[in-house]
Amino acid sequence: MIVGRFAPSPTGPLHMGSLVTALASYLDIKQRGGEWFVRFDDIDPPRQDPDAIEHILTALDAHGLASDRAVDYQSNHSQRYEAALAKLQSQCFHCSCSRRSLAGIRVYPGICRNETEPRPDTALRLRMPDREVGVDDGILGLRTFNLAEAFGDTIIRRRDGLWAYHLATAVDDGNDITHVMRGQDLFETTPIHVYLMELLNLPVPVYSHLPLLRFDDGSKLSKQTHAPAVDNTCAADNLRHVLSLLGQNPPAEPDWSVGQWLGWGTTAWQVEKVPPTLANFTKKP
Ligand code: GLU
Repeated sequence: MIVGRFAPSPTGPLHMGSLVTALASYLDIKQRGGEWFVRFDDIDPPRQDPDAIEHILTALDAHGLASDRAVDYQSNHSQRYEAALAKLQSQCFHCSCSRRSLAGIRVYPGICRNETEPRPDTALRLRMPDREVGVDDGILGLRTFNLAEAFGDTIIRRRDGLWAYHLATAVDDGNDITHVMRGQDLFETTPIHVYLMELLNLPVPVYSHLPLLRFDDGSKLSKQTHAPAVDNTCAADNLRHVLSLLGQNPPAEPDWSVGQWLGWGTTAWQVEKVPPTLANFTKKP
């Protein structure tokens, strides 16, 4: 069974950059005859926007991107993450270093590596070995990273007790996702996910990392850069625009409906046509 997911963090409304990821992952999975669903990565309440989930679901619905399964929420998976943590325990240590004390340091220098006793107010870090991990990406090709050099010991549970993105995502994707398609900003930490899956004996999905949609100044569309919400009243035009950004050469059919665009896209989708960079986001399509 082929399974893919779109996994937004509910920090703000769906913008054109997230529509690129949602549509590409949807078409890729649909073309393979698989199941596609929405999973909210809602494990960081301080960063979340209480209206975001509803906004995102409304926007996906307007664009015809219907989840084949019940919408999933990482906040419901604590037991799964606890079980994973229990398996990783012997490779973790308690770290009391503050973010401020590590400011400017790219790779954690191992200060607390020998702290195996649990203490309050500490983060849990996974020891990273001096080992190469390769990721054979469907868009970027094969790249190899040294875990210790590229990442260093990585936080898997935060000091405030919240699950780290890497642990939650590796556990959920390793659970039953066969194909992950997401933005290229996440490519550089994918070896952490692959390594975690390996330690947990989980199957590694096929990864494909899409070029990011950027403003003219080079910043990526995000909540921080105030990317505007997609306009649901012109969903069919948005789909055509995104297909065009993704290099799929959609025909000029001004009257096509959302369903027609998704049907065309599912048949026509070719990941090889995705350009290395996307045309900048300058104005509403
Ligand atoms: N939740 C992440 C985000 O919105 C994406 C996670 C993923 O696709 O792995 O940036």
